[in-house]
Amino acid sequence: MLAENDGRKPLKTRGPVFVILLGPPGCGKGTQARELSKTVGLVHISTGDILRKAAREDTELGRMIQSKMTAGELVPDSLVCQTVVTRTSEPDCESGAILDGFPRTLDQAIFLCPKLPLRQTIVLNLQISRAVLMQRVLGRRTCPACGEIYNIHFRQPRMTGFCDRDSVPLERRTDDNEVTVRQRLLEYEEQIQPLASFFKDMNIRQDISADVDPAALASQLSVLVRAAIDASGKNLG
Ligand SMILES: [Zn+2]
Repeated sequence: MLAENDGRKPLKTRGPVFVILLGPPGCGKGTQARELSKTVGLVHISTGDILRKAAREDTELGRMIQSKMTAGELVPDSLVCQTVVTRTSEPDCESGAILDGFPRTLDQAIFLCPKLPLRQTIVLNLQISRAVLMQRVLGRRTCPACGEIYNIHFRQPRMTGFCDRDSVPLERRTDDNEVTVRQRLLEYEEQIQPLASFFKDMNIRQDISADVDPAALASQLSVLVRAAIDASGKNLG
């Protein structure tokens, strides 16, 4: 609901709410972000997706990202920041957004935070035990044709071993093994620690156990975000 007051600032009944999702690779963060986007009605911004999209656009930013990606290099922080912030200023983010995969470093967080309404920003920090993570990642099967992801423990295809969409035999990614899972988790923990303490000092971080079943986690997250959306009205008033 929007109404103009003096023509400069729109009056809103609810402020924008930004959700920052943190979580180690394999904890189901991407799936949770997509699900949450549907249940609470906020745009899902996946850093990987928007970088790939920006790279296809014929703009200066697009060409810079494209050249890094083609060269197989990491897209530098400054470009990632610029791309995400540009995306959050688009009209569909007027009510806020769910940020998935950003910020990933302390520098990115320091860049982003002044641009967000902090009283209306929540950081949901998904935590998963190593044993559960291991079981999930080792149970993961993907379709080489369409990219659909299954799990032998909690998201089985209708016919064991075959994709529901195209009946292509499912595969296990070679990097989904115990050694790489442990390695990825260590790298993540090292990277996330300064970021997590930064958000804790700002008093906007909530730690949530992702060891529970994905459906239970999804409903827990949507309750937290709905509460933040309700509170955003009070923050405005
Ligand atoms: Zn498939």
